[in-house]
Amino acid sequence: MTKPADTLDLFFDSTKCFIGGRWVAPVSGDYLPIEDPSSGAEIGRIARGNADDVEAAVSAARAALGGEWGRMPAVERGRVLTRIGQKVLERVDDLARIEAMDVGKPLKQARADAVALARYLEFYGGACDKIMGETIPYLDGYTVYTLREPHGVTGHVIPWNYPMQIIGRSVTGALAMGNAAVLKPAEEACLTAIAFAKLAEEAGLPAGALNVVPGLGEEAGAALTAHAGVNHISFTGSVGVGQLVQRAAARNVVPVTLELGGKSPQLVFADADLDRALPFLVNAGIQNAGQTCSASSRILVHRSILDEVTDRMAARYRSLRVGPAISDLDVGPMVSARQQEIVDGFLGDLGGAEVAARGELAGDAPAGGHYLTPALLSGVTPDNRLARDEIFGPVQVIIPFDDEAEAVAIANGTDFGLVAGVWTQDGGRQMRMAKAIRTGQVFLNNYGAGGGVELPFGGVGKSGHGREKGFEALYGFSVLKTVAAWHG
Ligand code: NAP
Ligand code: MG
Repeated sequence: MTKPADTLDLFFDSTKCFIGGRWVAPVSGDYLPIEDPSSGAEIGRIARGNADDVEAAVSAARAALGGEWGRMPAVERGRVLTRIGQKVLERVDDLARIEAMDVGKPLKQARADAVALARYLEFYGGACDKIMGETIPYLDGYTVYTLREPHGVTGHVIPWNYPMQIIGRSVTGALAMGNAAVLKPAEEACLTAIAFAKLAEEAGLPAGALNVVPGLGEEAGAALTAHAGVNHISFTGSVGVGQLVQRAAARNVVPVTLELGGKSPQLVFADADLDRALPFLVNAGIQNAGQTCSASSRILVHRSILDEVTDRMAARYRSLRVGPAISDLDVGPMVSARQQEIVDGFLGDLGGAEVAARGELAGDAPAGGHYLTPALLSGVTPDNRLARDEIFGPVQVIIPFDDEAEAVAIANGTDFGLVAGVWTQDGGRQMRMAKAIRTGQVFLNNYGAGGGVELPFGGVGKSGHGREKGFEALYGFSVLKTVAAWHG
């Protein structure tokens, strides 16, 4: 099991960019501090990559497409990805410890992220040689077929909340299709992205197929998404930055996948199996301190069971323990002082809602950590901003409904549509709800489906567009070419 540590013990150099298969200092010579959100302490530093480093990374990726990587048969690409997955599994405890210290994630959750990254590499490693075109019946004398080809250079800008999982679903899918990737991880969470590059190098990924430029969003991120040499952009993050990225992509007329925020509901009907539902209802709100795009921040409950559901969720909330990531309690700190302030701001203006219960801070939580005890709110009306805006913290609101139509209207009543859960034993109602809710994923009598590497994921509305995860992602990371041959 992982040993607790108060300093970073790394198997790579956190201060370097990984460009063209080489570990290089940022052109600027500038660095950014790494903070441990559990204590507020500075525990190391990363490169402050900028447009110059992005330029070098895009060139290196382009060169890789014309070199060993571009010529590699699909089956070999699959073998390399599978080998990286094995390296990730060998390093699971290290990756978990590093992620826990970097972003404040309790060890068990950080470990699950590392295992998920390995799973993505297995899944996409196995998929590389199974992407096929089709033949199309056409006019007499013709044979028509389609080819699935890589976009070329893909840019990946990712957030801090699930770095390893998002590298898995975004970067490894792009590599599986033969693209060459440039990754800009979030300033607050670069370490496992750099670790991933190290493991990819060890596994024999050809130089330039993967390039990592740590740095700030407005510098390295903006340079990457505006770069004319990037042929596809995969962005995961906030709606506001997503809009900037889409605008940048429009200037170069390149496709963009946007995985943005959410306000995902779980609908609990009177016939729900509450014993099964309860752990899902709460965990989907507090996992990763609620800093999850698919967090279930709205619990819609049939009025006949409102008191029972509220009481049972409140009991669970009161038992939740919050503390340092390395202590591996139910909830860790928020990633940063800024994120803590944002969530505190929401809780400071309840707009008529009531606090039904809160979790408890562990006695040994360092004073400098960004701790916030989970809050369950009742008496929330659908027009309250707590029921409409993404809070991105361990806060859930309970909203009553009287019938199916009202439940659907509330569920669909935000700008977002990422994930929904429906709890009912009535098969007809399950089908009606699955169709009526405007969202990218629906879970019937479960929520999140155990990580779901295989399950296409993405939003509607302001939750974004395009799909990652599963086989579907590979269509997004490729371009379809139609070949029409006339042979008489
Ligand atoms: P964010 O501020 O949008 O940042 C996301 C990434 O974009 C970071 O790497 C950031 O860099 C970079 N960035 C910032 N400004 C940029 C710019 N002008 N041009 C290009 N890149 C720029 O999001 P966040 O606050 O880190 O993450 C939370 C949000 O992500 C939430 O809304 C959450 O719902 C969403 N999210 C969605 C999903 C999903 O799959 N749908 C998954 C996870 C998170 P720096 O941070 O280094 O400055
Ligand atoms: Mg950090």
